[in-house]
Amino acid sequence: MAKKEILEKLNRKMLACRKCDLRKSCTQVVPGAGSAKAEIMFIGEGPGKKEDQLGVPFVGAAGKFLDEMLGTIKLKREDIYIANTVKCRPPKNRDPRPKEKEACWPWLIAQIKIINPKLIVTLGRHSMKLFLPDQKISEAHGKVVTQEIPEIGAKTFYVLYHPFAAICNGKIHKDLIKDLKRIPKVLKKIKETQDSIL
Ligand code: URA
Repeated sequence: MAKKEILEKLNRKMLACRKCDLRKSCTQVVPGAGSAKAEIMFIGEGPGKKEDQLGVPFVGAAGKFLDEMLGTIKLKREDIYIANTVKCRPPKNRDPRPKEKEACWPWLIAQIKIINPKLIVTLGRHSMKLFLPDQKISEAHGKVVTQEIPEIGAKTFYVLYHPFAAICNGKIHKDLIKDLKRIPKVLKKIKETQDSIL
């Protein structure tokens, strides 16, 4: 079976998930969107109001900003995959709770296993902390970190601020644009390193 079909099958299974209470209050599950063959996977926090209505990640204000930024490095949504730490909207956009992130973790891990991206870009503190619990986002943003994750092995992460934080804060806005512009170089370096090992 092609990656696309395997991912679609997984995402369909997600729709029936009741592992935490978020599903009771949200409108629908938002599994993720983009290419199953993506080299870069972006991971945000959780669906907001608009995402909950449409069933697609990053379609609200933060999503518009993310699209604009992706455009500056010539990336389209179809080139990447976008998912979230939790697939159901937390009520009133509150932070996802540890238990909710824990319940949703196997779905995220399964998505990463199928897509097997060369680079995982974490958007915001919640996403970063899932994989890199010892890092502080104010220090880690714009850095490439290789981390062993028990379920998936060693993965390369690139830490970014959340686009929503950038909308609200001028300094974060500047840092996020600067960090994001380095993504093509980071990916190139990863590919060169892999080629030299092979
Ligand atoms: N913020 C997120 O972290 N994810 C979304 O899908 C939308 C907004």
